[in-house]
Amino acid sequence: MLNRQGRPSAPQAHGVSDPAAGMGDQAARLQGDANRAAGSTAGSHPTFTGNKALAQIEPLLFEIGRYDTTGVDLDEPEDFKPRLGGLERKEPIGLPGLSEPETMRHYVRLSQQNYGIDTGLFPLGSCTMKHNARLNERMARLPGFSDVHPLQPVSTVQGALELMDELGRYLITLTNMTAVALSPKAGAHGELCGMMAIKAAIEAKGEGATRNVVLVPDSAHGTNPATAALIGFKVKPVPAREDGWVHVEDVKERLGPDVAAIMLTNPNTCGLFEPQVAEIAKAIHDAGAYFYCDGANFNAIVGKAKPGDLGVDAMHINLHKTFSTPHGGGGPGSGPVVLSERLAPFAPVPFVRAGKDSFELVEQASDAAEKPFGRMTAFHGQMGMYVRALSYMLSHGSDGMKQASEDAVLNANYIRAGLADLMSLPFGNKPCMHEVLFDDAWLKDTGVTTLDVAKAMIDEGYHPMTMYFPLVVHGAMLIEPTESESKASLDLFIAMLRDLAMAAKNGDKERFTGAPYHAPRRRLDETRAARSPVLKWTPPAPVAEAAE
Ligand SMILES: *Cc1c(COP(=O)(O)O)cnc(C)c1O
Repeated sequence: MLNRQGRPSAPQAHGVSDPAAGMGDQAARLQGDANRAAGSTAGSHPTFTGNKALAQIEPLLFEIGRYDTTGVDLDEPEDFKPRLGGLERKEPIGLPGLSEPETMRHYVRLSQQNYGIDTGLFPLGSCTMKHNARLNERMARLPGFSDVHPLQPVSTVQGALELMDELGRYLITLTNMTAVALSPKAGAHGELCGMMAIKAAIEAKGEGATRNVVLVPDSAHGTNPATAALIGFKVKPVPAREDGWVHVEDVKERLGPDVAAIMLTNPNTCGLFEPQVAEIAKAIHDAGAYFYCDGANFNAIVGKAKPGDLGVDAMHINLHKTFSTPHGGGGPGSGPVVLSERLAPFAPVPFVRAGKDSFELVEQASDAAEKPFGRMTAFHGQMGMYVRALSYMLSHGSDGMKQASEDAVLNANYIRAGLADLMSLPFGNKPCMHEVLFDDAWLKDTGVTTLDVAKAMIDEGYHPMTMYFPLVVHGAMLIEPTESESKASLDLFIAMLRDLAMAAKNGDKERFTGAPYHAPRRRLDETRAARSPVLKWTPPAPVAEAAE
């Protein structure tokens, strides 16, 4: 049955001895849900509410909302006459309403279940989860930057265009390249942009029909082969050898008149600088192909090495990694692509052109003297991220950016040195760049897996490291502390992992295989969640009907 508010009644029937008696349908049902949710997490101390101390269980809006409530009080208008010619909605819309304080609590509670770089060390390798300086946020919120509209006349946004021009020049200088396409909105989008520029260059040479193979090392991020395949290239893998490096002989062996490009990550996803990168670039160029560099790991070498000096033709830069703009749910990504002299003419529109007294946004390929391959985005890209990235660059200065890279590398090596006696390094105990890669050989015969270690880290209050990537290493654990962690923070992280490693080796399997014990949710059936996701809330069946 439906209750007064037109929503299904609580599924449980409550007896007089039930402490929930008299709570009202909705509260009782929520409390029942909370108990069920908590039952699996509260261990030997289940609580009545399901809350765990001050950590609140938070149901869905649909479960706590009511249809007769909204955050605003508006009187029904007098003499209201619909003007939609009978097309207006006849039924209630069915969205749950909450009062303002309830809404506030809902979202604040959810936010408290979140783990982010502002709560603790975030060791996700390959992601560069560094501190997002509040200064950058403040700059991005200056009304002159935050309130501009992409369709405003160019004469009214000269400052914004100047900022884009300056950011572009910094990126070109840091990489020693010729041109930059700012508009791509993430690393993967930047890969697409760079590879489309390569494709355009190949087609301009009349080799479009014959050069259709892209070499991609086994250790590459999945976005690399996906990008190449998406625009019609055939992907040919190149092995990463036992030392974690791509060898020039293995590249040469695969080179021919059919090869359009190589997509190489440097520093690579094993956390190592590719020592043969310059030779590989030469071999690629000698064969008439292009060198796309995945620049996601640029944080390790800013101010130390310039990709242009290594023979790179195109490279994306994840502003949300290297230049500290927020990631994922915290903000949109931004993946500018720098291009070599050979590819610069093919840079997509729009781009900023600095005139004598003003800046211009070149919007149409026909307005460009060059040969833009097209456009990647409707407008010019992520303005807010440009402001944050430039703010990061200006506040660090060239010496500060160089030091950030040095500190990021130092921190990763500090973790490597602190764990090398207990955890196994697949490529020997040699220095790493900004991230350190362990495999799972140290877990042999313990009955504990990489996944179990990750879950046990959650109990210890840490976001897990990147796991099972790169694929070239068995049970990979890729740890990137970034430069913004203190020595004390690294020491605690190392001590925590040492404690876990010793527990695994001493046979305390339960600490791992049952973990996480303390998280709001225990182990999820991730396969089922991915294969058959429940994306729509359906009201619970009204089972109390028969009883009344
Ligand atoms: C993060 C990353 C990418 C993709 O970047 P997004 O901004 O997530 O699209 C590509 N390659 C490597 C090595 C990365 O770490």
